[in-house]
Amino acid sequence: MFRLSQFIREIDNPTPVKPFRNPPGPVVIWNLLRKCNLGCKHCYSSSSNKDFSGELETEELFTVMEDLKSFRVPVLILSGGEPLLHPDIFKISKRGKDMGFYVALSSNGTKITEDNIGDIVAMDYNYVGVSIDGIGATNDKFRVMEGAYDAAVRGVKLCQDAGIKVGLRFTMTQDNAEELPKMLDLMDELEVDKFYLSHLNYAGRGNAAREDDAFFSMTRDAMEVMFERSLKAQRAGIEREYVTGNNDADGVFMLQWIKKHHPEHAEHMEQKLIQWGGNATGVNVSNIDNRGNVHPDTMWSHHTLGNVKDRPFSEIWSDVSNPLMAGLKQRPRLLKGRCGDCKYQAICNGNTRVRAERTTGDAWAEDPGCYLTDAEIGL
Ligand code: SF4
Repeated sequence: MFRLSQFIREIDNPTPVKPFRNPPGPVVIWNLLRKCNLGCKHCYSSSSNKDFSGELETEELFTVMEDLKSFRVPVLILSGGEPLLHPDIFKISKRGKDMGFYVALSSNGTKITEDNIGDIVAMDYNYVGVSIDGIGATNDKFRVMEGAYDAAVRGVKLCQDAGIKVGLRFTMTQDNAEELPKMLDLMDELEVDKFYLSHLNYAGRGNAAREDDAFFSMTRDAMEVMFERSLKAQRAGIEREYVTGNNDADGVFMLQWIKKHHPEHAEHMEQKLIQWGGNATGVNVSNIDNRGNVHPDTMWSHHTLGNVKDRPFSEIWSDVSNPLMAGLKQRPRLLKGRCGDCKYQAICNGNTRVRAERTTGDAWAEDPGCYLTDAEIGL
């Protein structure tokens, strides 16, 4: 994840540069179940509205949580499917909070209602992220449910009114990219705390939708809009987070933008971006799926490192006898093509390896999702 507003803040309020370092344990994105009431076209977990067999039992989840705690995992992002459809979601959430995790809920928002908002408040979630992929009918088309937009916005408002930190998550494609400014207006209107722009990745149904991807010029335009909005909010004294995911070239693109618009800050910004360090798959970000399979991140569902029913997560995650994990943890990574020659590897860390693997069969080939020109990456 690229927290771009943190870097935008550096323009007016520079902070000291610190050395790059990894946090103690990875963030765990946990797909508690695969069932979902929506059928989103870009869903990475290919969820649908039915029960799936072989999912981890709640007691098994608790055992895994003990291991995660001792492995110093700081954050649990409870996801799905739709996590609010899990019969024990509040029991699991409460256990996570009681154990001292930062617990976030990643929801499609349509199941946040007057009936359960009291329970949601009682969980004291650190963050609730709601996915909305466009205004009104655009979202409903993506999510394949009429009324999904209204239901999700209602869910956001309920959280807002209850004082929960909430954010909008927007997965951008060619079909909804032009709605980004409207989505940012919606954030302002609802006064939500955070906006997450997720670049479409190549996994699950997203893989089949590759031709529809909004890369390159559209991505560049979108990123500039994000930078400008973030700077505007900051200068208006409004606390709002702007973050992106699934394309770590965003950090390098930001540096190019700074060089153009705020050149006096370019050197400092480059050092801050190196401190961030780019892609964290297999290092600081991990994924456990509904059946207990561990993956380097959510986009690597076709590559299983082990199962928490057979082996503790801490052992699976530390095992570098798996060549993919060894390669992901290596720094610098052994990259090829443009990524291998790129001057900004220390910022980007080779971006999203699953895109390279999906398109070439080689996880260390150049990332085809890089939207920077050769000149911009120092070639
Ligand atoms: S060439 Fe590769 S390493 Fe360089 S910015 Fe693009 S994706 Fe990142």
